[in-house]
Amino acid sequence: MTDFRAYELQPASSLLAWALNTYGDSFALACSFQKEDLVILDIAARVNPKVRVFTLDTGRLHEETYQMMEEVRSRYGVVIEPCFPDREEVERMVTLHGPNLFYESAEKRHLCCDLRKTRPLGRKLRELRAWATGLRREQSSTRAHIPKVEEVDGVVKISPLADWTASQVEEYTRENRLPVHPLYSRGFPSIGCAPCTRAIQPGEDERAGRWWWEQSNKECGIHFADDGSVRRNVTAKQNEEQDLGNFMHKGFTLWFTGLSGAGKSTLSQMVARRLRECGAEVELLDGDVVRTRLSKGLGFSKEDRDENIRRIGFVCELLSNHGVIAIAAAISPYRALRDEVRRSVANFVEIYVECPIEVLAERDVKGLYRKALAGEISNFTGVSDPYEPPLAPAVTVNSSRETPEQSLDRIWATLENLGLISFDRSALAH
Ligand code: SF4
Repeated sequence: MTDFRAYELQPASSLLAWALNTYGDSFALACSFQKEDLVILDIAARVNPKVRVFTLDTGRLHEETYQMMEEVRSRYGVVIEPCFPDREEVERMVTLHGPNLFYESAEKRHLCCDLRKTRPLGRKLRELRAWATGLRREQSSTRAHIPKVEEVDGVVKISPLADWTASQVEEYTRENRLPVHPLYSRGFPSIGCAPCTRAIQPGEDERAGRWWWEQSNKECGIHFADDGSVRRNVTAKQNEEQDLGNFMHKGFTLWFTGLSGAGKSTLSQMVARRLRECGAEVELLDGDVVRTRLSKGLGFSKEDRDENIRRIGFVCELLSNHGVIAIAAAISPYRALRDEVRRSVANFVEIYVECPIEVLAERDVKGLYRKALAGEISNFTGVSDPYEPPLAPAVTVNSSRETPEQSLDRIWATLENLGLISFDRSALAH
């Protein structure tokens, strides 16, 4: 890793000139239209008027922020690249929890910040080699030691104003007649999303301007660590290794249903492994294994199949009631039986592992699908016996169209969206 300590003595203008010359189009300024961001833009635009600027448009910004965006575009002639959250992720979150979920719990607020801020920022940084932020050491104790230049996850992060005081920012703003976000004059100490920032009264703590309804853990989902570095898109294991926060989970049941050979066992094992890496208590009940123990002696008549599912469901109920994550992977072809289990198990999450019969027949080394399709095997689920797909599963994955890793990520995102797993990032601060 490059040693950037020599840059500590460089003034903001030199640092920005160096970054623009060194990284060219792979360098961009992060801008949320706060005073610091405008100072940096003003300095950078003098070096290169075509400097790249991006902004995280969470979809919940103040109207005044959009006015600022227009003002900045017209004054500097720069293109402002918006980074939007993933539409599907937001749709799922709002469908499940409503538009103002952040007021309900810190957990849900973190989820919203994660989807609307952290992930879009992570995506943007993946296309850059270097970026600049308006962080200043004076802003908070957690920013007291941020370096001016550092490398974080392979991207160079530059904080040109790290050693500036608030008065210096004010002075530069005044002397250069920079545009100022109108909400400052209405008592807003910082500019963020409309539902989560407010004006403060004289003498009131600055932090009261954000997430004022929360008693603690006022960190932003953007996850600036103590050193000011942004943490983005880390896996659970990395999170643990980097001490980014504690993994938390509720007791719940993850029920994988789908035809034989669709990938239920593979995926359930992958999910179990990732959860265990995070320190979760997990029990996996694979249909094939269950039949050699818990359901030994049961056959494949409808009654015996139903009984098998009831037994698996009963164990899942006990486990999830005691805070354990139970994962069941069973064909479980009948909707009524799955619904019966759903009614008895709190936090029941149904995952449909979809795959077309033709693909399953090709994958099937034992040739059972081909035999069933040829009429040589009777009562074969999906061919000569019904398989009733879920009507509204929590998530559907398709093993013929996506890799197991992609399916795993979507399942993981669903669990986060449902608030069943989360990271306590109270050690981090915005
Ligand atoms: S600040 Fe509020 S609205 Fe904005 S992303 Fe975070 S929780 Fe959502």
